[in-house]
Amino acid sequence: MDFNDTPEEAAFRAEARAWLEANARLKDPDDPGEDLLGERTSPETIRAAQAWQKKKADAGWACITWPKAYGGRDASAIQSVIWGQEESKFQTPPNIFGIGLGMCGPTLLTHGTDTQKERWIPQLLSGEKIWCQLFSEPAAGSDLAGLRTSAVRDGGEWVVNGQKIWTTGAHFCDWGILVVRTDPNATKHAGLSYFVVDMHSPGIEVRPIVQINGGRGFNEVFFTNVRIPDENRLSEVGNGWAVAITTLMNERASIGGGGAGGGVGDLLEMAEKTEIDGRPAIESSAVREKIADLYTRSRGLQYTGYRTLTALSRGTTPGPESSLGKLVGGALAQDMASFGIELEGLAGATHDRAITPDDGIWQDMYLAIPGLRIAGGTDEVLRNIIAERVLGLPPETRADKGIPFKDVPTGAH
Ligand SMILES: Cc1cc2nc3c(=O)[nH]c(=O)nc-3n(C[C@H](O)[C@H](O)[C@H](O)COP(=O)(O)OP(=O)(O)OC[C@H]3O[C@@H](n4cnc5c(N)ncnc54)[C@H](O)[C@@H]3O)c2cc1C
Repeated sequence: MDFNDTPEEAAFRAEARAWLEANARLKDPDDPGEDLLGERTSPETIRAAQAWQKKKADAGWACITWPKAYGGRDASAIQSVIWGQEESKFQTPPNIFGIGLGMCGPTLLTHGTDTQKERWIPQLLSGEKIWCQLFSEPAAGSDLAGLRTSAVRDGGEWVVNGQKIWTTGAHFCDWGILVVRTDPNATKHAGLSYFVVDMHSPGIEVRPIVQINGGRGFNEVFFTNVRIPDENRLSEVGNGWAVAITTLMNERASIGGGGAGGGVGDLLEMAEKTEIDGRPAIESSAVREKIADLYTRSRGLQYTGYRTLTALSRGTTPGPESSLGKLVGGALAQDMASFGIELEGLAGATHDRAITPDDGIWQDMYLAIPGLRIAGGTDEVLRNIIAERVLGLPPETRADKGIPFKDVPTGAH
């Protein structure tokens, strides 16, 4: 493992840092950070996020790994990590472009025609248009290829009917990436096609889902005879699964293990300030043991992350350790939030920012992390992947293999 920047990486870091210093303010260490699932999408926040994205795009700092021809700077994976590390030290609007830039853009660059790239990439990169991902359905999440929303060809258009769910940001997005079933007679994965849909099309109805913390980050989206021009199709009819895999690979990479909220340092500080039975909490051996446990686990995760960075820095592919970040990081963050709330004593039972200590960061984190342990692959699905692809254990039985999708009994796919 190598913890230091190479001379080239140090030079790149200095260049990134200089631009950020000239264009943004350093973060306030007392700022609780980004609101995990709450009010991060008011019209003012969206405008501020778009203005910051445009500023980066104009200076060549948006999507730096993308080709220069499409507004990027052909940067390497390690340069992208360095840019992310530096940008995270500055006060910037919430990143509402994660799906568009992290997933839709790379999919368009891989599978789009030149015309499609010229049409959609510039407005994606500059933040002018915001994108969402219309994949999951009520009966197709982990088993995405079991989806039932259909598209039937009608001349130069496709007519879409069905329902999507958990669509993050659908209520303020302009475009969406959509996977639908175009051939129910083909096997499960072979009957799918992939489209880009204008979210303002007639027949699209977006209904909000209110979350446990009162935020409304995602939605149900209903399609009733929605017409999509064939020119909005990515790749061939029936090749939708391959395109979706490109999106999903990028999704896992962009979700990662980290996230907003408190860390072990904040817990330590709190244990020094808080009292249990008239003594500072840090004097309790149970509190010290718990903090030591959380510290050890977060350091383990951090150093495992460095192994991935070292591989990227050397231009090699990261090993299986990169599959562990989201799995281990999610559970760890949940334990930290739970312990933070416990340390707050009775006040921990509230979730009103006006009276909850630390602006309610532990409560926000506690309510948000279960969602992060589901999005982009649930813990169980990640364990299956590690079991089958990393450890080489026998695969799960798949009862729907090799038969036409229309003959798969409901509940067996
Ligand atoms: C915060 C958040 C944002 C999201 N944003 C989007 C979005 O923008 N667009 C979008 O399309 N989707 C989005 N999703 C949906 C997400 O992709 C799905 O929730 C996820 O794929 C899981 O699917 P599901 O909810 O249908 O659960 P299910 O797949 O029904 O799983 C239910 C339970 O069964 C377990 N399980 C399922 N299959 C297996 C198996 N083979 N082996 C063992 N256990 C299994 C799961 O681990 C889980 O515990 C979002 C979800 C969250 C939480």
